[in-house]
Amino acid sequence: MDLNALAQAEINYGKYLLSQDHLYKKIPENQRSELIQQAVECGESAAENLVADDLRNYCRQEKIEIEFFQEELKAENFRFVLAEFQLPRLIRINQSLLTAAEPFLLAQDFFKDQRAADILLAHELYHYLENQQQLFTIKKQLMYQTGPFKRQARLHALSEIAAMSFAQAYLELPFSPVILNIALLYPIAPEYSEQLAKQLLVID
Ligand SMILES: [Zn+2]
Repeated sequence: MDLNALAQAEINYGKYLLSQDHLYKKIPENQRSELIQQAVECGESAAENLVADDLRNYCRQEKIEIEFFQEELKAENFRFVLAEFQLPRLIRINQSLLTAAEPFLLAQDFFKDQRAADILLAHELYHYLENQQQLFTIKKQLMYQTGPFKRQARLHALSEIAAMSFAQAYLELPFSPVILNIALLYPIAPEYSEQLAKQLLVID
């Protein structure tokens, strides 16, 4: 798989991530691109507004615990948790996956000088900030109808889109962090990783 080409391609990762939301079909088609745009901007302005030179120091200051966890990696459980945020103040990062993918990542041109752990950390930190500051991605409710019932719910994909644009803007990455997810999975679950890459490329 040519990740450098993928990293340089103009990928509509917002469209891809939104399409993964379990409520995707309930979102009126004419609202989708605006929601994506709003989520991207929400992540970018959170990055602009964050007063912190260093994410780890910021976490220390906010008493956010960063836990690097280990797990046994098997290709058949390819739905690995790369990293996660747990309320109120815990960020967990999959160290086993980072260690396993490191040689592969270092061999990718697009990735040079970047630190995978920092990108994952930035993504998860956005989830802390969106809760803390009650940002658009938390507040936005989708109204929809199931049979006779009117319902409303959050669109979790908006948070994912904003977390990606936050990480990209804060770390000034020349590629979308979505590519990192694909790259991290490749050494352990190459087929699944390629499948994700293909989905990203055909989305537009
Ligand atoms: Zn996330």
